[in-house]
Amino acid sequence: MNLKMLTVGSLFTNCYVIWCDKTREAIVIDPGFDRQSEAGKVFHILKENELKVKFIVNTHGHPDHTCGNGVVKSATGASILIHKLDASILSRTGKDLDSLSDFHVLSPIADDFLEDGDVVRFGRTVLRVLHTPGHSPGSISLVGEDCVFTGDTLFAGSIGRVDLPGGSGEEIIRSLREKLAVLPERLVVYPGHGPTSTIEREKRSNPFLQRNFDVSLLG
Ligand SMILES: [Zn+2]
Ligand SMILES: [Zn+2]
Repeated sequence: MNLKMLTVGSLFTNCYVIWCDKTREAIVIDPGFDRQSEAGKVFHILKENELKVKFIVNTHGHPDHTCGNGVVKSATGASILIHKLDASILSRTGKDLDSLSDFHVLSPIADDFLEDGDVVRFGRTVLRVLHTPGHSPGSISLVGEDCVFTGDTLFAGSIGRVDLPGGSGEEIIRSLREKLAVLPERLVVYPGHGPTSTIEREKRSNPFLQRNFDVSLLG
């Protein structure tokens, strides 16, 4: 599996282009850009590596992760995949979402839905879907052989906010404990914002993943 990470948009969202070497089939995770120059960087990667984008996968529906869906879809014909519980957020502008008010570009509607246990297959690469609600009701993580894409559920040393509509402190802690902390420790964590990490490092040092973390602190 090949991977390129770009940090895009005013909230510095991590957008990932991943592809299978053998077939050149690719997916784009969280194209959160609303500037043409940033879309151009993704198209450059696609062209340079002769890639065909099969899917646009959103780790969740917030506009800082989805507002480039339309431009990527119209250029590549790729299908938009998201968890059903976040699909309705695609048609909501950032002004309904408090601090995401900078984002005015709406995503087209989803082409298909992802659920816990589904797989996203492109070429010989397979990513397994984990439903990891809490930051939003339909937040997902995607697990590959060596890595996990955690969206805004898990960051290096922190976690996503739970105060946006549909967020839940209890749910995010359950997702972290029951879905992410049980993954192989060697997996590299590719989060929705900020630097990469590993499951091992997060279990050791992320305060929200410690046994004694008090969920009531999240409100
Ligand atoms: Zn978010
Ligand atoms: Zn985000």
